[in-house]
Amino acid sequence: MVRALNVSKHFHGVEVLKGIDLDVAPGEVVCLLGPSGSGKTTFLRCINQLETIDGGRIWVDDDLLGLEEKNGRLHRLHDKRIAKQRREIGMVFQRFNLFPHKTAIANVMEAPVQVRGVDKATARAEAMALLERVGLGERSHHYPSQLSGGQQQRVAIARALAMKPKLMLFDEPTSALDPELVGEVLDVMRELADDGMTMIVVTHEIAFARDVADRVVFMDGGVEVESGPAREVIANPQHERTKSFLRRIL
Ligand code: ADP
Repeated sequence: MVRALNVSKHFHGVEVLKGIDLDVAPGEVVCLLGPSGSGKTTFLRCINQLETIDGGRIWVDDDLLGLEEKNGRLHRLHDKRIAKQRREIGMVFQRFNLFPHKTAIANVMEAPVQVRGVDKATARAEAMALLERVGLGERSHHYPSQLSGGQQQRVAIARALAMKPKLMLFDEPTSALDPELVGEVLDVMRELADDGMTMIVVTHEIAFARDVADRVVFMDGGVEVESGPAREVIANPQHERTKSFLRRIL
């Protein structure tokens, strides 16, 4: 579903991704772990083309992102084609960014109606089904300010799913939540994983990574330090940098 090859990215001359490779199979859940500043968020944003990479290639479902080959040379894709590629990928951010003046269901319906041109009745029925799936069927007409942070994040997940993405990216989806609200969001993500969604998750929730991820990738300083089956890497890290990170966090 995802292939990243030798991806590099710098900001103002500082290299924050130094040749990252990643393969994610359909239905696989991969957690990106590592200390703050190691490049995890930047890498996710590159996969969603919120950042343009400086080197390497990324494919999602065999589609080369952002570039096309013409006359043996690579050219940047037209913005419309990039927007189309981005629609295939759902992203959930640390901050939920719901439209504050729209109800939960209106937030979920927005993109299918505006971007995909789905008729309102269909979009409403699909949005309702998604809100029920994230346990918020009863709250569909609440505004974001009337929902807890955990509920808002679940609406944000429903909103991303409404575009029927092939791939879901989660960027520290629980780190802005009060501790007692973390579990309900992780539960929704766990169900999504069980349903076969392909997911890449940046998280500090080690128990979630161990129990739900097929694989973890440990990053530090813009490189992959270590990766492997989630349980193995977390229980028995090989690299000193992974060991000291896990010691600090556990
Ligand atoms: P992580 O998600 O692992 O905490 P990030 O990808 O957020 O790491 O950041 C990696 C590095 O890139 C950090 O040093 C950060 O300050 C820098 N960085 C991220 N985004 C930008 C940006 N838009 N402009 C400049 N520097 C950035």
